Amino acid sequence: MSSQPLVRRAVLILALAAAPLAAQPPTPAPQELGIKYMRDSEEYAALARQVYRMAGDAVTRTAATAGRQRWAVVLDIDETALDNSTYQLERAAYHVPFDAQSWDAWVSRREAGAVPGVADFIALVRRAGGHVAWITNRDAAAAEATRANLQSVKMWADDDRLCAQTSPEHSKAMRRAEVVSGKGDCSWSGVAMRIAVFVGDQMGDFPDATEHIPGTGTDDAFGRTCFLLPDSMYGGWIARVTRVR
Ligand SMILES: [Mg+2]
Repeated sequence: MSSQPLVRRAVLILALAAAPLAAQPPTPAPQELGIKYMRDSEEYAALARQVYRMAGDAVTRTAATAGRQRWAVVLDIDETALDNSTYQLERAAYHVPFDAQSWDAWVSRREAGAVPGVADFIALVRRAGGHVAWITNRDAAAAEATRANLQSVKMWADDDRLCAQTSPEHSKAMRRAEVVSGKGDCSWSGVAMRIAVFVGDQMGDFPDATEHIPGTGTDDAFGRTCFLLPDSMYGGWIARVTRVR
């Protein structure tokens, strides 16, 4: 009995000590911070719109000089056009990593939103008379759900090419070559295309020097023909330990 006031005092001291902590929101784990940045920050949304505005200016310049030459823009899909942060958040909430099965289930839900700025950019491309090729490493089985998701955010047109990955060897470089040459599934049959801009969130979304696509393959291309969006949720950078300048 005599220990009760002591216990009460101890509880009070603990409660007071905890009070300042309770007033602070919990700090997310690093991976969750990367998701939060893309979902919640004004900075990410402004950056994405900025990138798309600059890409739109490049498209306008191409359209002004294209004459009768046909031209296209090439976009990646995930974290370039479609925002999959809800999937990433769900995985993080349960402390489970990305896996193919859960990803396929997410894709079939068709619930991805649009990355800020992309819808206006695509509308500008269409008004200016350009074609749109979506080059994605989503697999061919996901094509229908992907098309439907793009449609739901008003970014799909029947003239578009959805160039999914049909096998591990089916690289994005191969599909870019098809767009340029006019030969293959990822082309407007027989029509060689000038590519006005490439947009992506990973370096693999852009041609390297060996592809010999005009205006690409150097660092100088970024901001001119190649437009890179930030991706703090995933990418090759997570495993890298060497800073590249
Ligand atoms: Mg991507």
